[in-house]
Amino acid sequence: MRIRYHHPIPDFYEVDNPIDPLDSVSDDFLNNLEQFILDKSFVGVSYSKLSLEFRKRWGIDWDNILILKYLMSEEILKMKPSKEKTKLEDEEFQEFGHKTFEIADFLRKNNFNADLIHPLDDTISLRAIAMQSNDCIITRSNMCMFKEGLNLGFFMIKTSIENLPFKKENEMLWVEDFCSTCGVCIDRCPENAFDENEKVKRKVCTAHKEGCSKCVLLCPFFKRGYDKVKKRYDKK
Ligand code: SF4
Ligand code: SF4
Repeated sequence: MRIRYHHPIPDFYEVDNPIDPLDSVSDDFLNNLEQFILDKSFVGVSYSKLSLEFRKRWGIDWDNILILKYLMSEEILKMKPSKEKTKLEDEEFQEFGHKTFEIADFLRKNNFNADLIHPLDDTISLRAIAMQSNDCIITRSNMCMFKEGLNLGFFMIKTSIENLPFKKENEMLWVEDFCSTCGVCIDRCPENAFDENEKVKRKVCTAHKEGCSKCVLLCPFFKRGYDKVKKRYDKK
């Protein structure tokens, strides 16, 4: 059983899935969809195509995923750990969850199947799906980082659309090398929440209980941003 960071999100669908869904999009529709997502205050969208092997491993029969990314508020992240902070983080999560249902409805209205993958579903790892996008990396601090920022939250929609712009190669693998020479997140964790294999001990980490964000706040990727860290890394 996973530790719960958030409260469940109720269903907000207002439109049913189409009876005879379409499976391909035009470039124009994709541009409109991406703009619709940005207009909902998400910072970007990534796409995962789940391989047959992946689907077998997780016992699922769907494969086309939209990953809707939002920036977690820096103002909240910088608050001292408290119940109030975790409440605000959850409210932000609920707000973007609600918007994800609106995006699914937008797809349904346009004759595509669209269902939110529930973030609290214990049967599937959203991180594992995210890594299939070739558009993110798991940092040494155990965060799933996309280029838009370390402080990203995301929601996912599975859809009937087969021709999404899936990435074939991951350009972020260099981060593993960078992290191997850094280690600030582990050295400065106030709870010593990393085990000998550098895995986060969920029961020790206080992120979910009190909203500790220290490993995010101290990370160069948060302080300077992905592009600046990459530029400096490339110079070396
Ligand atoms: S603090 Fe350093 S080691 Fe930890 S995730 Fe950030 S870059 Fe990687
Ligand atoms: S959130 Fe805080 S307690 Fe948890 S691993 Fe990061 S620094 Fe440690």
